[in-house]
Amino acid sequence: MADRGFRVVIAGAGVAGLFMAETLKRAGLDFAVYEKAEEVGGTWRDNTFPGLFVDVLSRQYEFPFDPNYNWSRKYAPAPEIQAYISKVARRRRLTDFIRFNEEVTAAHFTDGRWRIETARGNSDVADVFICATGFLHQPKLPDIPGRETFAGPSFHSARWDHSVSYAGKRWGVIGSGASGVQITEALAWAGCDVTQFIRRAQWIHIRDNPNSTWRERLKLRLPGGYAREQRRLWQMINEGDAWRLYPGPQREAMEREYRSYLDYIKDPELRQKLTPDYNLGCTRIPKSDRNYYEAVQRPNAHIVKGHIDHIEPRGIVMADGTHVPLDVLVYATGFDPHAYMRPMNVTGLNGVTIDEAWKEKIYSYGGVALPGFPNLFMLYGPFSPVNNVPVPLGLEQEISLIMRLIREARARRAAAAPTIAATEKFLARLAAAFPGTVWVGGCKNWYTSRQPNPVLWPFPQAAHKGFFDEAPVEDFEFIPTGPVD
Ligand SMILES: Cc1cc2nc3c(=O)[nH]c(=O)nc-3n(C[C@H](O)[C@H](O)[C@H](O)COP(=O)(O)OP(=O)(O)OC[C@H]3O[C@@H](n4cnc5c(N)ncnc54)[C@H](O)[C@@H]3O)c2cc1C
Repeated sequence: MADRGFRVVIAGAGVAGLFMAETLKRAGLDFAVYEKAEEVGGTWRDNTFPGLFVDVLSRQYEFPFDPNYNWSRKYAPAPEIQAYISKVARRRRLTDFIRFNEEVTAAHFTDGRWRIETARGNSDVADVFICATGFLHQPKLPDIPGRETFAGPSFHSARWDHSVSYAGKRWGVIGSGASGVQITEALAWAGCDVTQFIRRAQWIHIRDNPNSTWRERLKLRLPGGYAREQRRLWQMINEGDAWRLYPGPQREAMEREYRSYLDYIKDPELRQKLTPDYNLGCTRIPKSDRNYYEAVQRPNAHIVKGHIDHIEPRGIVMADGTHVPLDVLVYATGFDPHAYMRPMNVTGLNGVTIDEAWKEKIYSYGGVALPGFPNLFMLYGPFSPVNNVPVPLGLEQEISLIMRLIREARARRAAAAPTIAATEKFLARLAAAFPGTVWVGGCKNWYTSRQPNPVLWPFPQAAHKGFFDEAPVEDFEFIPTGPVD
């Protein structure tokens, strides 16, 4: 039976919030999820642009408590991921716990509880507050002069305007990250006149994305089949990603392989434009299912490399004076990853806000907790493995520690926060691990901006599991909260 005296509030009903909700439901705890939108899914609800496929194997993007034996392809298209998430939320009745269209605007730790406020003027009180608000959630628009003057439709890739028809228009796509690559590829194959504006070339994974076969599906359903496949996948993740972490023959082989994809480009000038000048893996590698390099060689596709001077009502003017006429403009310019939890106003002990805490640098204990913010937990917060561990797997590990701490805090009638010493030890361990990884050495990416070290996890997935399994409770201080009502 649920213990009505102890309450948890989660902000966000994406993959992370739903995973947490299912875990709390199973544990019989009282909880509510606040979701600012009218549907679950987060990333997969918001990003509906053409060409979006999951970049890890579909099977790695499953809730472990709800396997899907029916993925249509090796790497599922985004609508299929969204349909899966939504189905799980409904089948498991998680939607009963979600308050849709309720954005959490503030959370203050006062008298041992979290006081939560929403944009609609509602409030809640919780012993534990969990932020599952996403690390790629707040769209970032570029600071290009004249942006507001553009006369045609213009939108961020995460706000795709489906009322705009493809045909007969000159499309501009600003950005060379994963979204920019996938959108350009999709528009080029759809026969649109598309110009992609890039400042830097990206390493791109040209991969096959076959339909799943009935044999593969059957294999999963055979006795022991699913567990066997899971073991194989996790082994693959650990072995396959070592190249990012350590220099050596595996990294060299990867670089050779990625360089060979550039051979698809016949025109030496275009090949030069699209050849990256930094180490492979330093940014998240865009995945191309329909050969981006072939797509951009179509006569209807164009790559413009360089600095954009300004945007005009009818197009873009480059720094060298070139004018590119356009009818539709897509900003595939990414997200503000350091807006994590914001613009929510979160205040911990002694009235310290998150903005104040992270003013000098962003830090966390394991990506899940912060000193001075008792019983506040983050899912996929700063230093979570955004690049080398599939998100559901990383979540499973984070949630296991959070549940351990919730149990401990509840039993002690206290609120848990990592000690400063334990947090510093964690950060020092990370700092020592970065040299030699692909994320350092002058490479610019969204993990490093404004930070001395990249804001991610520089170890293999097994070490992530080890960290969360073994995190000692002594790394946390427990601030008495008094008896639960
Ligand atoms: C275009 C794109 C493609 C991606 N592709 C992949 C991929 O192929 N593989 C992969 O592993 N990862 C991918 N990612 C990363 C992806 O974000 C994660 O895999 C995962 O979806 C994160 O889940 P989440 O629940 O933490 O965050 P989100 O999915 O961002 O969900 C956060 C939820 O919180 C809600 N929310 C935010 N603030 C508040 C608030 N104040 N109050 C109430 N609700 C709030 C949001 O509305 C949202 O529903 C991609 C990201 C993007 C943007």
